[in-house]
Amino acid sequence: MQDIERIGVYTSGGDAPGMNACVRAVVRAAVANDLEVMGIRRGYEGMIEDDFVEMDRRSVSNILQSGGTVLKSARSEVFRTPEGREKAAANLQKYGISALVAVGGDGTFRGASKLHEEHGIAVVGCPGTIDNDLFGTDATIGFDTALNTALENIDRIRDTADAHNRLFLVEVMGRDAGFIALHSGIGGGAELVLIPETITEMDMIKERILSLMSAQRRSTIVIVAEGDEFGGARGIEQALREDSDFADIDLRATILGHTQRGGSPSASDRVLASRLGVAAVEALVDGHADVMVGVVNGETKLTPLRNVYSRKKSIDYDLLKLTQVLS
Ligand code: ATP
Repeated sequence: MQDIERIGVYTSGGDAPGMNACVRAVVRAAVANDLEVMGIRRGYEGMIEDDFVEMDRRSVSNILQSGGTVLKSARSEVFRTPEGREKAAANLQKYGISALVAVGGDGTFRGASKLHEEHGIAVVGCPGTIDNDLFGTDATIGFDTALNTALENIDRIRDTADAHNRLFLVEVMGRDAGFIALHSGIGGGAELVLIPETITEMDMIKERILSLMSAQRRSTIVIVAEGDEFGGARGIEQALREDSDFADIDLRATILGHTQRGGSPSASDRVLASRLGVAAVEALVDGHADVMVGVVNGETKLTPLRNVYSRKKSIDYDLLKLTQVLS
């Protein structure tokens, strides 16, 4: 493999708090390894449309603590085609970029793998998604912040639920994964947690809620992941409203939505992003490609991108049991 002189870094897919901390770490680690760095704005869209920007130590000053991503993010349909990827590779070649750090989720890594396969670009991925649903790392960049944001909101909802003896259905993010729901459910003392990984009969949900509410509870909170099989909090709300057993129950559905994506990254996310950004550059320098850097049991670990996007990270079923014991 030829020596790397210049690398590119981009953020892609859904934005996550801590992406900026990761970009900063990538740029500074590259400089420390005598590499030049270019930022690619708007992910694969910018790679195809020639939206590149030179970066140095100073261009990433004061971004560690900011949410969103200074490089912007986008989804690109054109990149899914071989022609789109050819255009992207031609632009990389034009700037002398032979290696990339991709910060994003599984879709981003599928695209990165194709770029490696078809055009020989060395790509190392950093797991950046609030969903925490990536195989090969215990936590993804952004998960801890999103979780804490959800929790802060659940605490507020608990106050009003308590004051009015209400039942709240709170929807948190997670189209395919229940990590935010499960962890915020435990942290927020939810009476019931509904996630996409498990199938729960509607009759069971109703029975459980009625038994909780008849036990003279002051308030009841059900956390629902947006991808739960009933269509999130609204789907459950509708089913409960159509049932006469719920006619006397003061019921509200709240969707926390995009508040969970924004905000300054937590201490944990800043440390994780910094660590993974540096590890990604070191992996490239050591000749690795087509892998993701993650932290597993406290150790930095490389996992082939293929494994990251083809395997499913399991939730911790012991934690799910805990929600039943604690409610
Ligand atoms: P998140 O988990 O937060 O949604 P993500 O990285 O999975 O992040 P996606 O929108 O799935 O987000 O993927 C980002 C981009 O990666 C897509 O817009 C597309 O350009 C590219 N991509 C995704 N899947 C493929 C694929 N199979 N082949 C080529 N490119 C892909």
